[in-house]
Amino acid sequence: MKKDYSEVKDSAFRSNHLLEEMNAVQVRKNINKKSVAVIVLGACENHGDHMPFGSDFIFPMELAKRIAKKSEKKNIIILPAIPYGVSLHHNEFQMTMSLEPRTLELVIQDLVESVIRNGIRRILVINGHDGNIAPIESAARTCKDRHPDTVIACLEAWWVSVGEITHGIFEVWGGLGHGGEAETSTMLAVRPDLVNMEFAPKEVIPKLPSDKIRIYWKFNELTDTGATGAAKKATAQKGEAAIRALEKILISFISDMDKNDWRYGLSSK
Ligand SMILES: [Zn+2]
Repeated sequence: MKKDYSEVKDSAFRSNHLLEEMNAVQVRKNINKKSVAVIVLGACENHGDHMPFGSDFIFPMELAKRIAKKSEKKNIIILPAIPYGVSLHHNEFQMTMSLEPRTLELVIQDLVESVIRNGIRRILVINGHDGNIAPIESAARTCKDRHPDTVIACLEAWWVSVGEITHGIFEVWGGLGHGGEAETSTMLAVRPDLVNMEFAPKEVIPKLPSDKIRIYWKFNELTDTGATGAAKKATAQKGEAAIRALEKILISFISDMDKNDWRYGLSSK
């Protein structure tokens, strides 16, 4: 039998949106079929001498927390971040922890299935690492086929989008690069204690023949520092501007989807 908590103060039911920190009462009170489950994916790998190995989930998790706090939507639920990703292309660098693509695909599938089993049909993935993009898509296609009434959305590559949406704040290569100008700037904004700019590596813009044809390179074929881009150009101010732009995109996506009850295309009104 469920206990009667009617005498308990309202604040006890409030949640900070993080599943890992909620108790069962908060879960019962805050999660329903209008909830949006946020899945954060990262990696554990070298990001140059100046950035932490957990960069690819530390920043997206921070982004998820910020949008949950700022969004008017009360029932955003952030699942614990997955700290490992597909980092086979970084294996030559010390202490790369990598999953095989099929392992990550199954992990994502299992999580999505768990979310669906709990009645949540609205899933937003925030990805922090390039190697995860293919497994996310494979898992999402499989789950969508099994559960057509579920919406699975993903911010696949914030580090690419951010150069396009910040109107020239980044000086080199649109901010791109692994541990480059944008990644270092956002980390300086959210966890400056984890960035050591004294170790920021020299600028490396990989020489590749075409931006239309993709080469499946190993990262050590492109850089000997573990990083690319222009880390030395990074600042916390650029990072804050980048975060505001990303927050805006995510928050307006959620509120636009809410307006249409998470229908789109032919099923939207
Ligand atoms: Zn990465």
